[in-house]
Formats: sequence, structure tokens, C-alpha cells
Amino acid sequence: MTDKNVKATLFHQSAHLQEQDLLPASVCCPFCGSTERALSAVLQEKPDVTLLYCRACHAASASRMPKPETLEKYYSHYYDDYDDKQEKITLDAPDRMATHIVRHALPSMGDLSGRDIFILDYGGGDGSISTKVAQGLLDLGAAKVNIALVDYDRSTIATSGERIQISRPDDLTKIASLTMDLVIASAVVEHIPEPREILTKLLSSLKVGGVFYARTPYVTPLSKIAKTFNSNFDFTYPAHVHDLGAKFWNNVVHVLPLEGRFGVLRSTPSIVETSFEQHFLRTLAAYVLKMPGYVFKESYGLVGGWEVFITRHSQSA
Ligand SMILES: [Zn+2]
Repeated sequence: MTDKNVKATLFHQSAHLQEQDLLPASVCCPFCGSTERALSAVLQEKPDVTLLYCRACHAASASRMPKPETLEKYYSHYYDDYDDKQEKITLDAPDRMATHIVRHALPSMGDLSGRDIFILDYGGGDGSISTKVAQGLLDLGAAKVNIALVDYDRSTIATSGERIQISRPDDLTKIASLTMDLVIASAVVEHIPEPREILTKLLSSLKVGGVFYARTPYVTPLSKIAKTFNSNFDFTYPAHVHDLGAKFWNNVVHVLPLEGRFGVLRSTPSIVETSFEQHFLRTLAAYVLKMPGYVFKESYGLVGGWEVFITRHSQSA
């Protein structure tokens, strides 16, 4: 299978980490610094790693984070047995994803006619989604779209037209505040052990009226049900080190040290990742499970993932 979109979401296999793979346990929530955390789930035993739910910001995070070198080994398939049985969950329809982002970001972005648009794609692999978003914005009248693609994987790049420019800054220090019309952080925050500074930087890079899109897994409630039925639920630690749902995302702009006013535009169960054509039952199950989440929001948890669109209302408070 040579689907390029697999890359970003390839790492869906748990690994059992040893003592030397792990950082010491931190008492503080990596998003807000609070020590008010409660045991939510067990991720592995001997050495024990648990999922801790932060009562202050509603993030759930691993009690012990993998060392940076552990993650590097993990992502280079060190723990992989190259087994074909390994499930590769991917986005079947990047076009649908791109259309979805454009549709919900557009009302805040305003008239695109003749404008140069700036997109920051954080963790977007080869930029296949952001280039499709860019094409959508060009179709709506934008003159040119500049994409800054910041990703660990620098090997490939999606093709782009003349009016889509892609740059690859080394990291977020190259990105200035108040410069971006759109920031995409799709299925990436859950991979970052120390996300506070990065999330702050991503949101700070928004212009007034700019839109931040994030999508993360939210599986804790599903995993509790699976446990009730003695079914094994794979959290895919250490690929995923956080579990972030509605309460977290609805509250995140008050948790981070942001200058300026920000507001949530839309906060819903995440877009269904698979298509009926390619994964019928998985897709049907996803739609059925996510549906009540649109109505009951924070009180319903069986959604598998959450997504949010956040805009910047002002430059300073
Ligand atoms: Zn917290």
C-alpha cells in the first residue's frame, strides 16, 4: 500500500516501554500545570504508566512520557514487527477533510478575493490536506496561498500548482505571531509529550479572524465500555500520549498563556475518517457512535475523536 496519507497516521500500534525508555513521572498536567489529576486508565504495567485526567483543563495525559529518543526509535519502526496484520487506520478521503476545513473556517476568514492567504500546517506530513485546502481557497477567489509545513517527516512533499507555495520551516520559532489565516493541527497534538508551548505558538500565529483547526482522539469513554466487556482496548501508547475531548477543547483558550481574545467557532465530534466505499462497517459504526455527540456535546463521550475550530477575535486582550 503506497497511500501517502497513511504516513501521518501509520503509527497505531502500542509498544510496551521499559524503564529506560521513560521519563520520570511528572506531577503536573502538561497542558496547564495543575497537579489536580485523577487516575483514568492503565496504559501499561511494569513499569506502570497510567492515563491521568486533569480536573483543571480536562486533558487526559500519560503519567510518564516516553523519552525523545524512545519516540524517535518508535517512529523509525524499532518496535514494529512489520506484521501485515497491523492495522493502518487512515483518512480515506483527504478531499472531504479539506472541504470540511474550508467550509467551517471560511465564515471567519472573510472575503478571499485577490488575497494572499497564509496557512500553517503543523504535523501535516507531506501537506496533502493543506494543499487541497489551498486549492479550495483559490477556487473561492484567493490570489495565492502560502503553506508553511512543519513536520518531523521531511521526506516527501505534495505537488502544488503555481499559485500554491509550500515552505518547510524547521520549527515553530520561524513562525511569527499574527501571520496566519489558517492553522491546521490535524491528529497531531495527541503525539506531543509537552504540548503547552506548541499549542500556544500555533494559536498565537493566527491573524485576527484567522482560524485554528485541531482534531484529536478522544477514546477514554469508549475504552471504559470495552473494559466492561473484557475487551482489549488499544490506546496506542506511546504514539498517543493524550486523550482530548469536548471539555478540553472548549476550554483550551483559557488554559494557555495567550495574548488577545480567542473564541471557539465550532466544537463537534471529529469528522469520520474512513469512507463507506473503503471501510463500510467501521464507517457506519463511526457515524452511529458520533451522532449523539453533536447533540449532547460534553456529556456524551463515545465519539472516538473531537475537533475544534477556534478563531482569534483581537490582537490584544
Ligand atoms: Zn491540565
